[in-house]
Amino acid sequence: MRPVFRREKKRRREKTPRQKADSSILLLVYVTVALFLGLMGYVGHFLLVSREDVINNSYNARLDNFARTVERGKILSSNGSVLAVTEQTQDGSEIRSYPFGPVFSHVVGYSSRGKTGIEALGNFYLLTCHVNPLDQMGRALTGRKNPGDQIVTTLDVELQQAAWDALGDRNGAVAVMEPHTGRVLAMVSKPDFDPNAIGDQWDLIVSEQGQARLVNRVTQGLYPPGSAFKIVTLLEYIMEHPGDYDQYRFDCDGQFEYGDYTLGCYHKTAHGSQSLAQAFANSCNGAFASLGLELDKKAMGETAGRLLFNREQPLALAYSQSRFSMGEDAPGWEVLQTSIGQGLTQMTPMHCLMVTAAIANGGTLMNPYLIERVETVMGEPVKRFEPTVYGMLMEEDQARILTEMMAGVVEHGTGSAVKSDSYRAAGKTGSAQFETGRESHAWFTGFAPAENPRIAVTVMVEEGGSGGQAAAPVARRIFDLYLGREE
Ligand SMILES: [Zn+2]
Repeated sequence: MRPVFRREKKRRREKTPRQKADSSILLLVYVTVALFLGLMGYVGHFLLVSREDVINNSYNARLDNFARTVERGKILSSNGSVLAVTEQTQDGSEIRSYPFGPVFSHVVGYSSRGKTGIEALGNFYLLTCHVNPLDQMGRALTGRKNPGDQIVTTLDVELQQAAWDALGDRNGAVAVMEPHTGRVLAMVSKPDFDPNAIGDQWDLIVSEQGQARLVNRVTQGLYPPGSAFKIVTLLEYIMEHPGDYDQYRFDCDGQFEYGDYTLGCYHKTAHGSQSLAQAFANSCNGAFASLGLELDKKAMGETAGRLLFNREQPLALAYSQSRFSMGEDAPGWEVLQTSIGQGLTQMTPMHCLMVTAAIANGGTLMNPYLIERVETVMGEPVKRFEPTVYGMLMEEDQARILTEMMAGVVEHGTGSAVKSDSYRAAGKTGSAQFETGRESHAWFTGFAPAENPRIAVTVMVEEGGSGGQAAAPVARRIFDLYLGREE
């Protein structure tokens, strides 16, 4: 029986050729379906999740593949002026052209030699095509490139040009934004470069000593804020003295002495008897050093943190984190220096603008943004970006008090260059020493109109000297132009 049984069993296992073929086909179907599902999953994940990151990563080689089938889209100003466009040369190759030359160099960026600015930020959109799929297929079949989508930015050509002109041949930074939306209207950094010539001049630019021409000083330049930082010291004082800050008095004789340490007011001016508002308007170093010594150092550190020092900032462009390092055990001289924005504190002009914009917007910071919308080459809408809230940097009543005191700076203090008959501006000047024997960095940060802010501006002129004389007039031109146009 056993052999029979074995034979029987063996026979049951054997398959006819037909059955063999069926199961092979079935296996093949399973494998194919599994592979297909896997591929679909990957493609779906890529399209929905990773694609934007992959394409936006300026170091990714896949970019070249997209650029092979899509002609990089245009970058436009808020009113449609062309800031960057891809053109065909006579030999059929493509060049990226920047009609405004160096004026938008850092903010629009470049797309050869890596990508920077909006060229990097919007890379995904510029290399994605949303025109009619039939047109796309037609072009693909005939070997022609499809037109990439175009980016409409928040940038205002007139303001950008005015800021660029006003800075002249000085090195520095100007940034302009709408406090109630976060729309960035202008961003100028000098020294600049001509993005049309970036390929030819690359070696020259990167070998230049001490210029750092490719650095966007607005977001990446770290500077001592000087007296512009008195905004932070003032806020801390008001937070610690909510009921009696207006009782503050200080008698300034032009010099403040602390142990062996002597701190002078600007040009050793004796400001005399000062209220808090007067001390702020006159940027009295003695008063701010003196009240700084009274502040709770731990609370001061927390306030600096809430104002985005030592923090990630809501910026899509490459940026440097601002630094505030005064600890609870800081010695007196460091407290004095920190209270007037000297010492170890460093901030970027863009960070200064964000703090200013939050004050202008009742304490709430809107996330700054540069891309207004994406559209097809025909102007059909693809995607639109709306203003978004970052959060409250201070209470509304604190912002209101700061606004009034900043209006005082312009009305009867160091910011008088911004005083106008047609609007009421608010701001703060700064002159930050950074090296003995060299001129101070000049700051002005402010907004207008004080009662209903429409625009916030930060200006920083490297080695400009006095903030009131070198930086404030740049802001004045921006305010005049923008507010004059609105009427
Ligand atoms: Zn003084």
